[in-house]
Amino acid sequence: MTIRHHPSDETLAAYAAGTLDLGRRVVVASHLERCAACRRFVRGAEQVGGVMLEDLSPAPMSEHALARTLARIDREHSRQPAKPVANEPGLPACLKPYEMGRWRWVGPGVEMRPILLPESGNVRVFLLKAGPGTRLPQHTHEGSELTSILVGSFHHEGGDFFAGDFEEADGDVEHRPIVGTDMACICLVALEGQLKLSGFIGALLNPFVRL
Ligand SMILES: [Zn+2]
Repeated sequence: MTIRHHPSDETLAAYAAGTLDLGRRVVVASHLERCAACRRFVRGAEQVGGVMLEDLSPAPMSEHALARTLARIDREHSRQPAKPVANEPGLPACLKPYEMGRWRWVGPGVEMRPILLPESGNVRVFLLKAGPGTRLPQHTHEGSELTSILVGSFHHEGGDFFAGDFEEADGDVEHRPIVGTDMACICLVALEGQLKLSGFIGALLNPFVRL
């Protein structure tokens, strides 16, 4: 299937430069696994970044700098979760190193499963699963929301989204996605700040839902 919706150039450039936080990096990586066009873009941006680094004149390194850097890499490796369990069928390979929480009920026909990242700051990453034909509550976000569609489809005012597509939304966007009727939809989401539900269902669920 043709992928129609991609991460923005800014997001891909930030991914290539290594400046995205881990949560957003994982969600972008799940899109890259399926999208050759975005992989090409990232490779190109990495090469441009490499050329710029080569142009910088080398700074003298302090004594033991290499040893300190290697020690830090070792420490960061040892902080990775010991037992990866993210092996549900059909999940992107980028999730494999991370543990996941249990599926939790969020609302009628909707479940979420947190991805337990070693460092995620203000960004939460989770799988969201919604049954065929589910109307998700109308919502806005405090910060940005990146969504990588893994299985199934949904549509809203912004267009039709199928497996492989990617959606970037910020706090100004108010959407009411409706899941395709043929199968459940599973997305990988990186959400900054809180999700704010609106409308009748939102008023009903907001006190309970803390994604
Ligand atoms: Zn793409």
